[in-house]
This record gives sequence, C-alpha cells and structure tokens, in this order.
Amino acid sequence: MRKKHSAHDAREIAIVGGGPAGLRAAEVAAAGGATVTVYDAMPSVGRKFLVAGKSGLNLTNAEPLSPFLDRYTTPGLAAADWRLLVERFDNRALRDWAADLGFSTRESAGGKVFPEPMKAAPLLRAWVRRLRELGVHFALRRQLTAIGDGPELTFWTAESFEIVRPGAVVLALGGGSWPRTGSTGSWQRLLKDHGIAVSPLQAANSGWESPWPEALLSDSEGLPLKNVSVRVGGHSASSAYGDLVITRYGLEGAPIYRLGPELRTSALPIVVTLDLKPDLTAETVATRLASVQRNYVREASRRLKLSPAATALLKHLPDIGPWTSPVDLARTVKACPILLTGPRPLAEAISSAGGVPWTELTSSMMLKKLPGVFVAGEMIDWDAPTGGYLLQACFTTGTHAGREAVEYIRLPAGTENDPALQ
Ligand SMILES: Cc1cc2nc3c(=O)[nH]c(=O)nc-3n(C[C@H](O)[C@H](O)[C@H](O)COP(=O)(O)OP(=O)(O)OC[C@H]3O[C@@H](n4cnc5c(N)ncnc54)[C@H](O)[C@@H]3O)c2cc1C
Repeated sequence: MRKKHSAHDAREIAIVGGGPAGLRAAEVAAAGGATVTVYDAMPSVGRKFLVAGKSGLNLTNAEPLSPFLDRYTTPGLAAADWRLLVERFDNRALRDWAADLGFSTRESAGGKVFPEPMKAAPLLRAWVRRLRELGVHFALRRQLTAIGDGPELTFWTAESFEIVRPGAVVLALGGGSWPRTGSTGSWQRLLKDHGIAVSPLQAANSGWESPWPEALLSDSEGLPLKNVSVRVGGHSASSAYGDLVITRYGLEGAPIYRLGPELRTSALPIVVTLDLKPDLTAETVATRLASVQRNYVREASRRLKLSPAATALLKHLPDIGPWTSPVDLARTVKACPILLTGPRPLAEAISSAGGVPWTELTSSMMLKKLPGVFVAGEMIDWDAPTGGYLLQACFTTGTHAGREAVEYIRLPAGTENDPALQ
C-alpha cells in the first residue's frame, strides 16, 4: 500500500474532525497565527451540525450562567473548573460570534437561542468562508486510522495512507450518535492503543422504550402528552417537566432526555411516574373526581380536560385500573406508572454521554499520554440536555483547545512535558 509522508511542520496545527468543535478550534488557531488544516473522513464538514439545524439550530441557551452551568454533568471535573472553561467562551460570547458572522440571534421559549434564519446551512457556509479567508486548509475524505507520538497522524484516503507530522493536533471527532454523519466513535480504539481510558459511549438525549399494549398504540401513537411531569427514583427522586410523545417503541421528549443521567444509572427495567396534571394539586384532582361512580376514565378525561394520549394511558396501561374508586384514579392521574425497559440505540440518539475522561486531560485539554494532542467537543465525557447546551459545550471546548494548541506550538522545544504546565 502506498504511503505518503509530509515533512514535520512545527507551525502547523492539524484539526481532525470538522464538526462545530473542530471548526471553532480551527478558527481560533488560525486567528492565533497557526497554519491550520482541518481533516475529516467525510466529503464535507459539519454534517451533524446541518442535521441539528433541520428543525431550527438551537445554538445555545440564554439562561444566566449559574443555572446554565447546572445543566452540565462533567464526571471527574470539578464544577469550578467547568465554570472557568465556560466563562472563557460562554453563551453571550457564542451569540456575539454568530452576530459577527452576520447572523443575529433570538431567544424563544425556555431561553433557547436560534440564529436568523434558523437553519444551519447559511451559517455553516459563512463560517467555512471565514475559515478559508483565515487561510484554513481542508483535507477531506481522510479517515484518521492511527495516532503516533510526535504527534504523528495516519489518514486513510481510500487509495493510500497519508502520514502528517504537525506541531500540534486537536481531535474533535464527535460522539457516537448518528454515525452516518461521520461521528462513528471509531476514535475510541485509537486512544485505547495508547492506554487512554475511554468511558463507554451511551445514548443521551434519546427516547426510552416501553412495551405499550397494541390498543394503547392504536389510540395514541404519535400523540403528545403536553405539560406533564416525569419523576424517577425513590427518596431522592428527580423530576422534569415538559412535553412527551408516545411513539411505537416508547417515549420521546425533553423531560425524558433531561432525566437521562438518572435513568442511565438506574437498574433496568425502570418505573417512572407521570404526573398528568402537574398544574393541579392532588387535592384538586381528588375533589374533581370525588363524585365519579362509573365510566371512570371518561369522567377523568372530561373533568380534568385530559389529552387523548393521557386518556389512552389511563384506559390501556396494564397493571392500573379498572378503577372502582375515585381516590385510586386521582392518585394515578398524579403518578401514572410507566415501565421503561431501556434507551433507544446510540445511533438514533441526539448525543452521546461518555467519551474521553477529564482525568486523561491536562487543564489545557491535552491528552496526558499524548503530548501535543488536544481534544474538544462531544468526544469528551460531558453530558447536557437539549436546549442549546450541546453546541455551546462544543464551541466552548473547541475555543479552549484551539487556543491551547496555539500556545503549545509557541513553546520552546522540550518544555511541553513540564509537569508545571499540566
Ligand atoms: C438530530 C440532532 C439534532 C441536534 N440538535 C441540536 C441542537 O439544536 N442544539 C444543540 O446544541 N445540539 C444539537 N445536536 C447535537 C450537536 O449536533 C452535537 O453535539 C455536535 O454536532 C457535536 O459536535 P462535535 O464537533 O463534537 O462533533 P461532530 O459534529 O459529531 O463532528 C465530528 C466530525 O469528526 C469526523 N470524524 C469522526 N471520526 C473520524 C475519523 N476517524 N477520521 C476523520 N474524521 C472523523 C466526522 O466525520 C465529523 O465531521 C443535535 C444532534 C442531532 C443528531
């Protein structure tokens, strides 16, 4: 097999992965004076970013910083350190960045921030144009197949191997969801070859499966359960509020995504409870149902204005009903038990949890076992719900890794392993 070697270029930073984290790292590194090449296995960059923009690109969230930071789970990284990172490129900075690119942003329900227009394609086009103007080169259809010390990268181009030896590398290879966009998670093996631990990639922001009876599906498949509250766990229960959808396989929707960390650490199967009327107290529900003596489900639906999907749950779920007492019915309206048997496959999820543990990284986000190799984006072990938090973390970590890679190539040779810097 043909092998093409490029000479070592200490001024070059190779960014591997052309998703939002990699493109942001490239932008920062090029603006910092480095020679930058973005490598990607796919024929074009930003494929998942385009998918994310299909129904409106939720760039970030306008929440004040403290509640904003609380949305993230960063196993092994202290909350104060995550805060320091985010403060260097926060939700305000991301909106300013979009404005500078020519896209104003607007806030919608729940603080979600969208660019104008809402799609990702115009923004991505403008962004790539800016990168080219900054001198960034793009080397596409190059699959990273090995990482060596130096650092040295080996790419497979479908015809030959190409070996490059840049001054520093930023890996921004994404998580493991939607592999057809290029984020296959194949990088896990490359890091494990160097003794780097990788926390297993798990479906996050994904639907959960529930064995619905056929009758329930025929009444309610595809219908929304609006404004419900989902609760998981016993004594230290967590709950989340919002809209769900009954799907053929189970449930989808923001509250179930938000409870992902709790669900993933619970033993299967899990029983969650739905409060079908969170805006009414248990006493109010009980009072409204108190005089019901027959046609319990129909009366509950009428007196509480339940949606067709909520009514179908009361009517068809096994192990609840048929009711003989309005007290039991009222209790079920406030805590309707739903059996969850497991998450949907990783390939279908919006994002993945797991990845490169923070303990494998220096504070510069450089791999301790691979000096000169930095990481950014979803391949790092953080998790967050939908609402703009995912892209924000990609931009934040991309910014940091890009800056630190520039600092690294500026260091006099031999100082890069100084423990004081780590
Ligand atoms: C349906 C959907 C909707 C979403 N909506 C939103 C939203 O509205 N808001 C939000 O905040 N987030 C959203 N997300 C999540 C967001 O898109 C991701 O978190 C984000 O794209 C991750 O960015 P990244 O740069 O880390 O990786 P990715 O975007 O996954 O990019 C990784 C890149 O690395 C390349 N690559 C991988 N392996 C190799 C290799 N071995 N060699 C060379 N190249 C390689 C891939 O081809 C890819 O281009 C959504 C995701 C999905 C699936």
